[in-house]
Amino acid sequence: MFLEGKRALVTGSTSGIGLAIARALHAEGAQVVLSGFGEEAAIAALCEELGAVHVAADLSRREGVEALMAGAGAVDILINNAGMQHVAPVEEFPVGKWDMIIALNLTAAFDACRLAIPHMKATGWGRIINTASAHSLTASPYKAAYVSAKHGLAGLTKTLALELATFNITANCISPGYVWTELVERQIPDTMAARGMTREQVIQDVLLTRQPTRKFVQPSDVAEMAVFLCRDASANITGTNISMDGGWTAE
Ligand code: NAD
Repeated sequence: MFLEGKRALVTGSTSGIGLAIARALHAEGAQVVLSGFGEEAAIAALCEELGAVHVAADLSRREGVEALMAGAGAVDILINNAGMQHVAPVEEFPVGKWDMIIALNLTAAFDACRLAIPHMKATGWGRIINTASAHSLTASPYKAAYVSAKHGLAGLTKTLALELATFNITANCISPGYVWTELVERQIPDTMAARGMTREQVIQDVLLTRQPTRKFVQPSDVAEMAVFLCRDASANITGTNISMDGGWTAE
């Protein structure tokens, strides 16, 4: 229980990777703050399971991030994980989707860091972990906004690491390949339409074809990496972009 006494905010933690990270940090004793959308009863059950509080806020708006940070209180561990995807050719990409993806996947992380760092500096300890993606290092067609946002998040992370290096605050990205979550499930119909494929073809010939291991990453794998990055042994791991992508970006 090495995280007893630490407070951790995990954005986008009502499902998928964020929920797995919240569970793993809680298991190590952290006081967890949940964020994200979902059914009221399901969120209440999660709060009970994890002894957590949930702060409802739309993180695609700056005021939403500010409300979240005010509601969460001072945090020692910040996991910028909330994200969304949209799949369409550039010339057909809905401009509102572009704005929303950049706002949620990139700008929200900047704002959360901006507001979390003063407490971390004051206490002399902090961990910032950003859920980036293999798409922070490489591109795929039809994902212009997501690829741009995730590349930006990787750049933000490196900058944070340099600025915070002497404050015992680390900043790192974890970059999964395909993880079987709602986010992946939701992009299958769009990819079917964009590429004229069946569901099975999208899974085998678009998604898993990029991962040499031909296996989805599990949310719990990402969560274990996040826990490791919170350990004292990780104090010198900063500014990195840790790939968990079955070899995708090795190609
Ligand atoms: P998910 O859809 O299961 O979870 C997304 C979370 O973000 C949910 O809690 C949702 O409520 C929250 N959220 C969405 N829009 C929000 C908004 N406007 N304001 C506040 N919260 C909002 O997705 P996931 O797969 O667990 O993705 C989590 C992160 O992992 C994302 O940043 C995603 O880009 C990244 N990622 C996912 C995969 C994958 O294959 N699933 C791969 C690489 C990176």
